[in-house]
Amino acid sequence: MADYKMLIGGELVEAASGETFETFNPGTNEKLADLPRAGKEDAVKAIEAARKAFDEGPWPKLSGKERAEKLRAIAALIGDNAAMLAELEALDSGGTIRKASLADVPGAQQAFEWFAKLAEEQPDRADLPPAVFPQSENYRLYEPLGVCTGIIPWNFPFIMAAWKIAPALAAGNCSVIKPASYTSITALKLAQLITEADLLPPGVLNVLAGPGGTVGEELASNPMVDKVAFTGSTEVGRRIMQLASGTVKPVTLELGGKSANIVLDDADLDLAAAGVLFGTFFHGGQVCESGTRALVQRSIYDEFVSLLADRAGKIVLGNQLDMMTDIGPLVHRSQVETTERYVALGREEVGEPICGGSIPAGLPEGLAKENFFEPTIFVDVPNSAKIAQEEIFGPVLCVIPFDTDEEAIAIANDSIYGLAGGVQSGNLERAQKVAAGMRTGTVWINDYHMISPERPFGGYKQSGIGRELGTEGFDIYRQVKHVHVNPETSGRNNHIQYSALSANI
Ligand code: NAD
Repeated sequence: MADYKMLIGGELVEAASGETFETFNPGTNEKLADLPRAGKEDAVKAIEAARKAFDEGPWPKLSGKERAEKLRAIAALIGDNAAMLAELEALDSGGTIRKASLADVPGAQQAFEWFAKLAEEQPDRADLPPAVFPQSENYRLYEPLGVCTGIIPWNFPFIMAAWKIAPALAAGNCSVIKPASYTSITALKLAQLITEADLLPPGVLNVLAGPGGTVGEELASNPMVDKVAFTGSTEVGRRIMQLASGTVKPVTLELGGKSANIVLDDADLDLAAAGVLFGTFFHGGQVCESGTRALVQRSIYDEFVSLLADRAGKIVLGNQLDMMTDIGPLVHRSQVETTERYVALGREEVGEPICGGSIPAGLPEGLAKENFFEPTIFVDVPNSAKIAQEEIFGPVLCVIPFDTDEEAIAIANDSIYGLAGGVQSGNLERAQKVAAGMRTGTVWINDYHMISPERPFGGYKQSGIGRELGTEGFDIYRQVKHVHVNPETSGRNNHIQYSALSANI
């Protein structure tokens, strides 16, 4: 028996096969729970339930205001259970309790509130200018797409679930969600809370837990699915596109990154150092838009590098449930191994890091120290180095010198990715010119990691397709229909366009 159930067709259920898998606290390696391990059969059932709810159920026909009420009730439910959800999120993902309490859980709640507001305020119909020839009235209808699936990574499991569920439901779609196997608990918990509160008609929301190779592939390829929203690695994103192309499904892809945080010589160096360290090491570097390349102007380079090393040494690693911990364990031992491989490569490519570089010594008793990794900084890194080009997804910063603003922009853009970036500067006009030159979906000036539901988020280049959040993140869940009305309901002569275009009809 699993400790948590999946949500399919309004019922909280085990996997059809009865199989389960274990999930662990990476801080201690203690088992947290047995979770149902869905297979293809469960994925198909969930898609069928969503299809039925969309084709026959009330949800797509509700007014935006009615849907908004339900989404606000979900937001309130998250708020009422915030402490419990934050603790589960921290335990399961290794993210700190501070991050879970101040960012993940309130961020998920805000996403439901934002999309409730859009459901209520965005019109379902918009007039088009009248056409002169042929004489007609024209308007747009905005309609839901149908069944929308969402595939979620392990780094921000709860907020990513909210980013997939809230806009899909707000626009009148029905949804099937699959969190990553390392971190499925909070999405299952949310499904349980929503079901017990009886907030949604059966089948409107379905939540599965299981492997990407079977469940994820079904969600991306099943012909009954109308849209796939995927957040994860660029490699799997390519596969999702291939799978979705079989029935020409629209995809939203939020993929990897190797973002540049540019420090100009007029920056307040203390503030900029905080921005670079927060930009890289927040959540142990397991953030898609982390500023893992710090581009630092040469005239301030030495001073800035020693500031970075000094302050990085003050970052506290420890139990993720301790409010004073800055970085907890990485999500899984495998993520530490990936980081170790890249740090070994960095040693070959550029030499010894100025700080970090290994599993930390001296962690409190009882912690699984093999799942932690020190904040690590390589300096004088050529942008062509693999550690500057490839996404590591661990706490590793590459510092790269530059001379002119144009050179900084060119280095920043010399990447297959284009997710985000930062500019640290005392001159806002200069900083905005640099920001304008960066080919990325977001640029933060004198800030980093500032994402909120009202603002669009997504990538250029191989960082993805489409935008989540903002009004853009609502529009991607709606179809646009053009309706043309000839007001003359009879009389062949009124249809002059027929004879104009085809004389013999
Ligand atoms: P991943 O690509 O390994 O997995 C993401 C999800 O896809 C998981 O739920 C997984 O089970 C599923 N999956 C795996 N193989 C699949 C397949 N063949 N078909 C369908 N689904 C499949 O990513 P991850 O390791 O969980 O997360 C880290 C990656 O996510 C990083 O590359 C990071 O940059 C990216 N990410 C991007 C954003 C963004 O908004 N751009 C946000 C967070 C994470």
